[in-house]
Amino acid sequence: MNTSILIVGSVEFYGTLLDRLRDLATCSFEVIASANEVISSIGAKKPDLVILPANQATSLEVCRLLKQSSNLAWIYCILVLDQPINAVEAILPGWNWESGWRAAALEAGADACCWLSPKQSNCRLAEAQWRLQNSLLCSQIQTGVRQVKIYRNLMQSNDYLSAIALADPLTELNNRRALDWELPRQIDNARIRCAPLSLLILDVDYFKSVNDTHGHLVGDRVLQLLSARLRHNLRFQDTPFRYGGEEFVIILSNTKLQEAKLVAQRLNTLIADQPLMIDKNLALQITVSIGVATLRSDDDEQGISLLDRADQNLLKAKTDGRNRFISQEED
Ligand code: GH3
Ligand code: MG
Ligand code: MG
Repeated sequence: MNTSILIVGSVEFYGTLLDRLRDLATCSFEVIASANEVISSIGAKKPDLVILPANQATSLEVCRLLKQSSNLAWIYCILVLDQPINAVEAILPGWNWESGWRAAALEAGADACCWLSPKQSNCRLAEAQWRLQNSLLCSQIQTGVRQVKIYRNLMQSNDYLSAIALADPLTELNNRRALDWELPRQIDNARIRCAPLSLLILDVDYFKSVNDTHGHLVGDRVLQLLSARLRHNLRFQDTPFRYGGEEFVIILSNTKLQEAKLVAQRLNTLIADQPLMIDKNLALQITVSIGVATLRSDDDEQGISLLDRADQNLLKAKTDGRNRFISQEED
């Protein structure tokens, strides 16, 4: 993958650097000339590396802000000082000016810093020094590229592990852990936006007899086909979860009780009316019982009381005869 490098600085600064970095074939360069809104531009472009001129007061601040930002801190920052020695001494007087500005740069959050003296003509020593400085800058960029690559691979593994941690392997629905994370978030959102929120708990009726009659593999297939049917027939704001065994929870965002009852009714019909085709010789008719509940102002923020009310209604649906939904809530 191409390495993206963002250079923050004047066209002159940019031009000089490009001249020095001609050999970095796999890099693409972009420039931000204005010091204004540097952080938001970096946030939008998300480059692998940022190169900033060390002699601008804002550069250290940009490094500091980047390293303090939880989602941009991985961007590799190189501070470049491209002043002749006498100009630098004017800014940072004293015999140890180089260590001084390096320390300040690293302390602010720069990952590397580099001093580049301007090119001087007619002097073989200066030419050799110019080349050496360029190769040092290139090495620092390559170090940055390696670090950013490690970071990006880590993030990929993280996304992959999160997906595994939150998915149920049998049904490919979100699992119980995902529900524990998502429900408080949805409750919080609903309260902030003053929007309604409802929840369904579904339990397959007499599922044990499916296992007992046809074996656990057929039972597993029933759960898979049922989950697929749920997934394909919900509205975009409904999120299904496998709660446990043969029980499912569906969060209905932005949904009042009246509407939640319609969804529950539709799901009862959708499941009962069409048998699940296990294979070409076996079709199984199953039904589900559903408990419905809607968020109340006195519900806790984790959703425990909301889930509990839905569960009580599910139990009632079971004792009332199954293949139905119950909602003992007030609109
Ligand atoms: P009810 O109508 O009262 O809900 O009866 P039920 O038979 O559905 O309920 P019960 O709690 O007695 O049985 C649920 C069964 O679900 C028991 C358990 O072995 C089975 N089960 C749970 N998870 C899985 C699974 O992943 N695969 C299979 N095949 N069976 C499972
Ligand atoms: Mg059950
Ligand atoms: Mg059951």
